[in-house]
Amino acid sequence: MFDVIIAGCGPTGAVLAAELRLHDVRVLVLEKDTEPIPFTRIVGLHIRSLELMAMRGLLERILKRGRRRPAGAYFAGIDKPAPAGLDSSYAYLLGIPQPVIVHLLEEHAIELGAQVRRGSAVAAFQQDDDGVTVELADGEQLRTRYLVGCDGARSTVRKLLGVGFPGEPSRNDTLMGELEVGVPPEEIAAKMAEIRDTDKRWWFRPFGEGVYSVVVPAAGVSGRAQPPTLEEFRQQLRTVAGTDFGVHSPRWLSRFGDATRLAERYRVGRVLLAGDAAHIHPPIGGQGLNLGVQDAFNLGWKLAAQVRGRAPDDLLDTYQAERRPVAEDVLDNTRAQTELMSTEPGPQAVRRLLAELMDFDEVNRHLIEKITAIGVRYDFGEGPELLGRRLPDIDVKQGRLYGLLHRGRGLLLDRTERLTVGGWSDRVDHLADPTAALDVPCVLLRPDGHVAWIGDDQRDLDDHLSRWFGTPN
Ligand SMILES: Cc1cc2nc3c(=O)[nH]c(=O)nc-3n(C[C@H](O)[C@H](O)[C@H](O)COP(=O)(O)OP(=O)(O)OC[C@H]3O[C@@H](n4cnc5c(N)ncnc54)[C@H](O)[C@@H]3O)c2cc1C
Repeated sequence: MFDVIIAGCGPTGAVLAAELRLHDVRVLVLEKDTEPIPFTRIVGLHIRSLELMAMRGLLERILKRGRRRPAGAYFAGIDKPAPAGLDSSYAYLLGIPQPVIVHLLEEHAIELGAQVRRGSAVAAFQQDDDGVTVELADGEQLRTRYLVGCDGARSTVRKLLGVGFPGEPSRNDTLMGELEVGVPPEEIAAKMAEIRDTDKRWWFRPFGEGVYSVVVPAAGVSGRAQPPTLEEFRQQLRTVAGTDFGVHSPRWLSRFGDATRLAERYRVGRVLLAGDAAHIHPPIGGQGLNLGVQDAFNLGWKLAAQVRGRAPDDLLDTYQAERRPVAEDVLDNTRAQTELMSTEPGPQAVRRLLAELMDFDEVNRHLIEKITAIGVRYDFGEGPELLGRRLPDIDVKQGRLYGLLHRGRGLLLDRTERLTVGGWSDRVDHLADPTAALDVPCVLLRPDGHVAWIGDDQRDLDDHLSRWFGTPN
């Protein structure tokens, strides 16, 4: 009997497993693939994900394997630098190959005690009042109290649950691959400079040792069932660039679409959905992996409390209430970005206008706070502007705030030095620190770093401790 079985060891599943292990939950991750995906697709970790990695002491490890890039110019690729003074100590983007980040996250989950079984696909399940019986593709049956589908866009768990996945099908597919070229780099650079301002739908980027990362529209290339061929890449390049750059010897070739869909529900009884299993959208702006990882940080501590029998009644349902609107917003911003990528005169004019507007600091800041998720504010009811937002990595007596959050516990940051976490001290830490760089008396932080309460009154604090952390000891 496991407490939680996670279907899928992508970035979402791996982070969720680690978050659950911080609370001693018995967790098994079932991954259908025997080996991690070979595609060396570079993904970008945006500011909020970097902050979350820092909050769990993982960032140093990840930074060594990625490349820091400026935080700006990701909204529809509009070339504007990030506004000055972004409110984060991690105000950059980290480019990192997806298999590398998945490996690091899986390794971290295993170090914390998660079991990961590769080559095990979830094929069926039945839930009852006490738990879920999960059946693998080879017929083996396992029993768990909760099941979480982190099994990607084509999620078996979502389909078996019968949860609808409404939205728009893919309208524009794109071919992507890594190939060697038969022409000098200067020729490629000159061509790319020529098209840079007019057509952002394709690129040709050096990837080291004569290999280029190639992205080109798939329009006219038929059939999604088979992977694209080298000849199809050549054809598409000739259509958009007038030359195929002599591409040859592909390392890998793939195809992705721009479908946009959102699960109708994130939870049915003892079964939940997270990551691409719950939402898909075009990769523009590089938000999908970030969104899934942030789902996992939101869900982990709540599901752990539920498993341990001390979650307040509706805590687990706040997962959908908080995260589904965030996904809706990301879906909308990718729809908008996709329109801005069109080469038609109308969208091109809107793009020029938006580029002008982004010269206003407030507009630029609003867009970057969206893409990087530092603007997310959960609805915790009436209260000061900070309530429901994440707290940046501020200076505290012991050094930096995030250094105090590695164990995934709540934290009372108390500038009055007269409050107490009383019977919740087994799950909430208390830092009495009049020097904390805050302009409010006290904040209560949830394990995901969001501000759950602001004030200076003990009785009010106790109510909020109950609301988020259940009954005291
Ligand atoms: C071209 C491209 C570029 C992208 N760039 C970015 C970017 O820069 N930044 C960003 O944030 N996102 C980016 N994304 C999106 C990102 O890759 C996904 O959002 C992310 O991989 C989702 O993670 P996940 O763990 O939810 O799902 P997945 O990564 O799809 O993982 C799901 C896992 O579940 C396993 N699985 C499936 N079915 C079963 C089953 N029945 N039983 C057990 N296991 C199962 C799969 O093998 C897989 O390992 C990009 C996507 C594309 C296509």
